[in-house]
Amino acid sequence: MTLRFYNSLTNQKEDFRPIHEGEVSMYVCGMTVYDSCHLGHARAMMAFDILVRYLKNQDYKVKFVRNITDVDDKIIERAIQNNESIGDLTQRTIASMQEDFAQLGLLLPNTEPRATDYIPGMIEMIEGLIQKGHAYHSPGGDVFFAVRTFPEYGKLSNKNIDDLNPGARIAEDDSKKDPLDFVLWKSAKEGEPSWDSPWGQGRPGWHIECSVMSFENLGEHFDIHGGGPDLLFPHHENEIAQSECASGNKFANYWLHSGLLKINGEKMSKSLGNFAMLKDLFISYHPEVIRYYLVSSHYRSSLNFDQESLNQAKSALTRLYQALASMEGEGNELDQDMMNQFSLVMNDDLNTPEALSLLFQLAKSINNSSDPIQKMKYGTTLKKLSGVLGLLQDDPKTFFQFGATLSDEEIDQQIALRNVARDEKDFQTADKIRDSLTEQGIILDDSSEGTTWKKS
Ligand SMILES: [Zn+2]
Repeated sequence: MTLRFYNSLTNQKEDFRPIHEGEVSMYVCGMTVYDSCHLGHARAMMAFDILVRYLKNQDYKVKFVRNITDVDDKIIERAIQNNESIGDLTQRTIASMQEDFAQLGLLLPNTEPRATDYIPGMIEMIEGLIQKGHAYHSPGGDVFFAVRTFPEYGKLSNKNIDDLNPGARIAEDDSKKDPLDFVLWKSAKEGEPSWDSPWGQGRPGWHIECSVMSFENLGEHFDIHGGGPDLLFPHHENEIAQSECASGNKFANYWLHSGLLKINGEKMSKSLGNFAMLKDLFISYHPEVIRYYLVSSHYRSSLNFDQESLNQAKSALTRLYQALASMEGEGNELDQDMMNQFSLVMNDDLNTPEALSLLFQLAKSINNSSDPIQKMKYGTTLKKLSGVLGLLQDDPKTFFQFGATLSDEEIDQQIALRNVARDEKDFQTADKIRDSLTEQGIILDDSSEGTTWKKS
């Protein structure tokens, strides 16, 4: 069976046929760097990490580009709020992101372009769009893309141009000729970062960044474009419009989108609480537990986050590590049948839940096997296939010892999590956290002034 992906552009699973045999060119929209990463970001990044790992496992030569958006409204706003320079903010946030991604074991992209390094290319693309009549310089000083000059607009998000209601999504702007039009270049406002351009001082709009960074690093036509679910419209729709109008050719062949991550049924956002920030999760959980949790659902499914599912992920991963820990030495021989089954499920749009169930079959075979040669074969296969998903990469002993003794900070963190659960009247979770602390020798005392703790 050949590798198949669900292509958002055609709304169906398709055989993957790269433009150049044996090679894959892939662009993923990365982070807008104004704050630390939360689990929602990790979910999108993990989906494409698994894709890259699997493509490499299948012997494709992968060129993976993931950008950094380092100029944007949110960045400017946050820098003002924090009273720090934009450069300091983005530098700090990029370092924090790289640390989080390294913890999660995300493979580094081949190229990680930053938007501010591509301004000349953006200006050039915008000039070309104006020349071709797809863009115009408005009286207000901004440059807009004229959506109705691209009749295929809406082909990714399945929207008809005439049904689009700009009111909800795109802020009305007096200087636009059509409310559907989107900004390519914004004229400079006092105190904002800006660059020289044929239209005066200004800065690029967000969408144009990705078109230019993908063109310059992968060419005008490439294989896969990916991103989180909230990017499909309007960001990716706009990328297609401006890229295809600029080049006159098809942009990306396959569009892949990860599913939503929700907390208690709502989209994960920073205002919903700190416990979803990766750095906080890393205090209580081995990073591979978070990876396991994310790959235990199909990348396109909608995933609802709660503490309980992370705990389940921890026990499941512990079972795999236990099987691995029971092995002595290393072998070379692989269980070909399991290898084939693994490829079969992964070829089917990266079905990681099915792939994990194969890992558990292998763990069971290890535990039940009395023949040392067979056991070695299962163990070697388990290690090999887990590696394709980025799992079982740590020493079992180190994994088991993770969080064995809680620091004061970790205890406070658990108490804070319990308080959140209590505030939300989720007493089941609150009790579980208290019980788990009790098991680790930490006794909680609730009073009107809050919760204190002591070691038993
Ligand atoms: Zn993008």
